[in-house]
Amino acid sequence: MPFSKLGLSDAIVKAVTDMGYTTPTPIQEKAIPVALTGKNLLAAAQTGTGKTASFVLPILQMLDDGQQVRAKRVRALILAPTRELAVQVEANIVQYSKHTNLTSMAMYGGVDYEPQKRRLIEGVDILVATPGRLLDMYTKRAIHFDAIEILVLDEADRMLDMGFIEDINKIIERLPLDRQNMLFSATLSAQVRLLAKTAVRNPVEISVAKDEASQPKIDQCLITVDKDMKSSLLSHLINEQQWDQALIFIETKHGAAKLVSQLEKRGIAAEAIHSGRSQGSRAQVLEDFKAGKVKYLIATGVAARGLDIDELTRVVNYDLPFPPEEYVHRIGRTGRAGSKGEAISFVSRDNFKNLCMIERLLGHLIVRKEIEGFVPTKEVPISILNFKPKYQKPEGNNSTDGKPRRNDKPRSNSPSAEKPKPKKPRNRKPITDRDTGIPRGTRKPKSV
Ligand code: AMP
Repeated sequence: MPFSKLGLSDAIVKAVTDMGYTTPTPIQEKAIPVALTGKNLLAAAQTGTGKTASFVLPILQMLDDGQQVRAKRVRALILAPTRELAVQVEANIVQYSKHTNLTSMAMYGGVDYEPQKRRLIEGVDILVATPGRLLDMYTKRAIHFDAIEILVLDEADRMLDMGFIEDINKIIERLPLDRQNMLFSATLSAQVRLLAKTAVRNPVEISVAKDEASQPKIDQCLITVDKDMKSSLLSHLINEQQWDQALIFIETKHGAAKLVSQLEKRGIAAEAIHSGRSQGSRAQVLEDFKAGKVKYLIATGVAARGLDIDELTRVVNYDLPFPPEEYVHRIGRTGRAGSKGEAISFVSRDNFKNLCMIERLLGHLIVRKEIEGFVPTKEVPISILNFKPKYQKPEGNNSTDGKPRRNDKPRSNSPSAEKPKPKKPRNRKPITDRDTGIPRGTRKPKSV
């Protein structure tokens, strides 16, 4: 089906054609006609499926009515988890709206308030904002919410993982009741559905089946390796397989800096992107990576969220992500909108539980490989697909789900381990941290 059949105006169809899009992606085909009717939408779509255009295009169409936005007002609000994603979404809006007179702006923390305040004075049609900075600006009376007609929660699962639930609820409470709502999320977990209950009443629910999304175009594999051999394995693969490019995910910013210097010592130039670097230098590194000047980019998960890099051929999970849904987000960085990609995960024995949770979420085992010279001394057992973490999140709690606990020991790969003994149900409700909603005693997200 061509874009012109989705009910979009000529100005918008022309803009997407200018971008080289010929046909809508499955999520666009499903979401755009529904959104254009003004109905609420709850959509399960991973990054890389073309989800941004599926809410931006109808918003442009609905707002392109010649109405002038008032001072300090916005008509559509898109909430995004990170500044990178906010910038990326807004950049897409600029491209898609180029044949209209609509205005847009990205608003995020970590930078001066003043330029953002000045930009808001005349009003903006579409604002893409991170929740924390938006609330700050609201408190400073730099923005009023009374003209908001459309709310989008983009990557809602990620916003919840990052602990934005309170900010999001505060924002929603202050919005006009008569508005259209759209929620996009890679997974529709219990927490996301709970948020949807308050934010997106009676939605039309759509999802892109796994085989419709980018998943089949991504070759996934895991390489088992001892923890202390990961950096030499990475250098080995880069050299042996002559990698043209790789986005390498690592857990901490300290680890990222260390890996850059380890690679440098082996003659491999790499750059790191994490929240410890200024916004300017992150943007520069990203530009250099996109332009091919930087071939290997080492990124912490949060910093890398929202990066839109066309034709990224390879992602590497140097450290396995947590929560498991993050794995899906990460591999979605490659194989985007049709191109082929490769996702490689390094797995050592101490990652076993995390691996079980990821493979359980995927519903299948990931292809395993061993590399000569790097065969682990500590064997990594085969996952138990019906693995259940000890801590089970009660329905409706905003805590992170199924976090492995420090004293949990990996199960052995014995036949008895495949059927874990049923456990007595725990009646006691976990005590949760008041700020984050995370059960006390579980690991807090590391600084990234
Ligand atoms: P997203 O999932 O919104 O991050 O989009 C992933 C990538 O797909 C971006 O680089 C978009 O520019 C691109 N894209 C979105 N829609 C289409 C389409 N209909 N045809 C080709 N590429 C697209």
